[in-house]
Amino acid sequence: MARVPVDWALTAVQATMGQAMRAYFRNVYLAIKTILIGLRITLSYCFARTITVQYPDVAPTLQPRFRGFHYYEIEKCIGCEMCAKACPVDCISMSKTGPRRIDKSAGVAVGGAMTSYAIDYSKCMFCALCTYPCPTKCIHMGSVHDMSAFERDSMLVEFTELARQGLQTPLSLWMQKAHLPAWARKARDEWIERGRGRHQLMLQAMQDQRVDKPVAGSGE
Ligand code: SF4
Ligand code: SF4
Repeated sequence: MARVPVDWALTAVQATMGQAMRAYFRNVYLAIKTILIGLRITLSYCFARTITVQYPDVAPTLQPRFRGFHYYEIEKCIGCEMCAKACPVDCISMSKTGPRRIDKSAGVAVGGAMTSYAIDYSKCMFCALCTYPCPTKCIHMGSVHDMSAFERDSMLVEFTELARQGLQTPLSLWMQKAHLPAWARKARDEWIERGRGRHQLMLQAMQDQRVDKPVAGSGE
């Protein structure tokens, strides 16, 4: 009569052990599977052919939406500070001598002089948030990517100084050397050429200009 409960107990113990073993091996299987999934990309790189990019002799491949050092069109800037307010790390500062507005006939800003427009690249994270709210579309993310300095202060770029030289974007020190690989010389010359056509307007933007009052009913 006492044999039946013992059999039940044995069966129950066997079933429990069977479940525990199945759960154990299932966990081992899942652990190995998830590790292999996680390492799939890493493992594929382990067996990929190694390519060394011969930069700076060979141009780096920049993607179309690459965000490098800004280029800034001072002649279109009205000094509204929208870019500075949008910047999450407060790295844009500027000053002007008076209000500026766009002269629609000339397509440039007139009024007070832009006395400063600076970006501190030791803080900038190249998020491009400063470019979106600009009402005159004069601050953009550029393609220059290689600028370095020995001191933090050297990473503060004063764009009015660049504008005096006819430049819209900072050119890295090595790009100012006489002997450059062809791609770097081409990139540098393109930026110089780009500013050259607007140099006079850039210089004007740093001087006070007379602003005619809008004529009543002109819509301005
Ligand atoms: S890219 Fe971002 S961090 Fe840099 S100046 Fe613009 S808003 Fe500021
Ligand atoms: S938002 Fe544009 S127009 Fe306004 S200060 Fe900045 S760069 Fe100049």
